[in-house]
Amino acid sequence: MPELPEVETIRRSLLPELIGRVIEDVDLYRSDILINADDYELTGWLIKGLRRRGKYLLIDAVRPGDDGPNNSITIVIHLRMTGQLLLDKTGEMQRDHVHVRFQLRRPESTIDDGSQSDNPSIIYLLFRDVRRFGRIWYFRGGCENQQSGLAGLGPEPLTDNWTCRQLAQGLSRYPKSNIKNVLLNQHVVAGLGNIYVDEALFKSGISPLRAAASLNEAEIERLYNAIREILEAAIGHRGTSFRDYVDGLNTKGHFQYELKVYSRGGLECPVCGQTILKRRVAGRGTCSCPRCQPDPQ
Ligand SMILES: [Zn+2]
Repeated sequence: MPELPEVETIRRSLLPELIGRVIEDVDLYRSDILINADDYELTGWLIKGLRRRGKYLLIDAVRPGDDGPNNSITIVIHLRMTGQLLLDKTGEMQRDHVHVRFQLRRPESTIDDGSQSDNPSIIYLLFRDVRRFGRIWYFRGGCENQQSGLAGLGPEPLTDNWTCRQLAQGLSRYPKSNIKNVLLNQHVVAGLGNIYVDEALFKSGISPLRAAASLNEAEIERLYNAIREILEAAIGHRGTSFRDYVDGLNTKGHFQYELKVYSRGGLECPVCGQTILKRRVAGRGTCSCPRCQPDPQ
């Protein structure tokens, strides 16, 4: 599943391509992906921004020349397990499992003087999803928090607003849960999933089985710093590509080569040489080092 670094990488790859284009047409090949298609005008929107919140991608758009109260929308996209957003600059990309296709027109005001060969007047944004858990919603601008997942999201871990104290408060709300489970909880902190929780726990030397309430102040601070460092590093490597994940330009990330424990069950710990454990914790395949991250007795 794309986590914060992957969604952020997709955002950065698509941003320069989408901004300033108008949604000319939307092809819905499967009606269950775009949730509220009947409630909104799908076309005629000028894309002004592309934001990320947790694992959600948000496209902000306005209706040109309309000063009315309904002149803006936010398109909310969640890729869930296997969703992809792919840019198709020719309209000829042959891919299966494409469920929604946005046709994006460059406004007429941009003069086509031949210098735009890499910037065709029509491009396509494809929503592709093999397992079809991903979803798209339209909302009136400023109302996107009506989407229940967005409404309940905890703080963004890479902003200055998120402090070590906030992490401690988040943990204190689920004292008996194991730390793996609490970090996967999007109410506590937004954007973490299985990969980066395992890596952050390894980096901070904390067993995924530890009860949240058992962490002392120093451990919480280590964990807080580890989460931020791991996420920054993963964005720097443009995300982790195992199976499905590519950015909006169909390019793989390479943080998979930097992983210390995730996906390395049965291999040697890169720090101490012990065999990395893989087991189920919080219902998820979880990797940890028994020596670097000792389990509670
Ligand atoms: Zn180790």
